[in-house]
Amino acid sequence: MEIPDWLAHLSVDNRGRPVPYVNRWGSEKGELLTIRHDPHVGGPAIFCDDEHETEPDFKAQNMQRQRECVAAGLCQVCARPIPWSRRFLVISGMSVEWVHVQTLGRTVPVVTEPWLDERCARFAMERCPGLIRRARKAELTLVPIRRQKDTQLVVSRGWVEGELEEASRELEPAMWCKIALPKLTIRKGPRGTGAGTGAGTERDTADPAR
Ligand SMILES: [Zn+2]
Repeated sequence: MEIPDWLAHLSVDNRGRPVPYVNRWGSEKGELLTIRHDPHVGGPAIFCDDEHETEPDFKAQNMQRQRECVAAGLCQVCARPIPWSRRFLVISGMSVEWVHVQTLGRTVPVVTEPWLDERCARFAMERCPGLIRRARKAELTLVPIRRQKDTQLVVSRGWVEGELEEASRELEPAMWCKIALPKLTIRKGPRGTGAGTGAGTERDTADPAR
């Protein structure tokens, strides 16, 4: 695959495909998970230390990079910061969750796929197997999100099975940073698998700090 200049810094898989920044490497192994402080959520969070893994899993996002992309406004593919004037989200009926946001007092559409800049969005919709597999190509819609006030950050917290079960039940670490879109008009569809949370459980809470 020919890799555009602006993605030349990304790692490639064994078939030469660029691997988006947010992608998880390796399979979901409990031993890669730790709980540490994450400044992007201002508290304990689950990290998947996958930097020594050699095979990307195009169907999954890495938790700490997903939170970083959403909270810091980075493009999920190239990891560059995107100004509000140029942010997009890829939205599909399958990838939208409906979450009750207490501060809004109602159920609103929420996405877990982080931001994209326009060129990466177009590239990803055509070429990135991860995004396509996570959000069914036929239904993908590229939606410009231009103002921070049209969004609200939602942090999911939860626990994971295995070695971290006791600690994660006690600490309720952050898992994913999601983007609530109270103004988006979208029909309710079947809930998709989204980023996938792995074993354990999570609940969504609106982040009062933002
Ligand atoms: Zn990008």
